[in-house]
Amino acid sequence: MYFRQIFHSPSHSIGYLLADMSACDAVLIDPLPEQSELLLALLQERDLRLLYVLRTHMHSSEQGHCGELCRFTGAELVVGTDSPYDGPAQRKGHGETVVFGNEVLRVLTTPGHTPDSVCFLWRDRLFCGDTLEIGGCRLDATQSDPGQLYDSVTQRLFLLPGETLMFPGHDFNGRTVSTIAEERHRNAAFSAGSRERFLTANAPRPGHAVLPGLSPPPPHSP
Ligand SMILES: [Zn+2]
Repeated sequence: MYFRQIFHSPSHSIGYLLADMSACDAVLIDPLPEQSELLLALLQERDLRLLYVLRTHMHSSEQGHCGELCRFTGAELVVGTDSPYDGPAQRKGHGETVVFGNEVLRVLTTPGHTPDSVCFLWRDRLFCGDTLEIGGCRLDATQSDPGQLYDSVTQRLFLLPGETLMFPGHDFNGRTVSTIAEERHRNAAFSAGSRERFLTANAPRPGHAVLPGLSPPPPHSP
């Protein structure tokens, strides 16, 4: 297996490259279009065939859908069933899988940050986009539903084994990985343990925001 985090400094975004080296099949999770050259070089370096580009979610303002990367490599785009994307893509619902070589990714639908948000579970690793951040959560003023987000995180992600490695869509003060156990116990956004408190603390306000007491979020992308 091959696993690599691909960090984008200007936006603090993190994409992921996973591959089955024996089959030479690869997938990318949340790659940024502006990193296409780097991504193609990484694939070429290891002679990997890109089968799928997976997106955990899309924002309505987003223009780059990695369509060019898909066209260039022949990869298929994979999005959640509620994705607003209207181009060619495989739409995956909860429990469905994405197979590359001998590896299997499982889709978890986790609406809240956006209506179409999904997470991908691969082996002991969870790729959660913006559904869960290290130490907090991320809300979009126009697209997020705090109640749905709370339910997705507490009733779906926090039920995964504690040792599951959690890989977010953005770093937090340089940290790029956590575990479900750590977030379950220490995440400031959810530690109050009450849905009502979470909703009160996250009443809609302009722009992306994490809960008070945490650092302001970096510019958001994707
Ligand atoms: Zn987002």
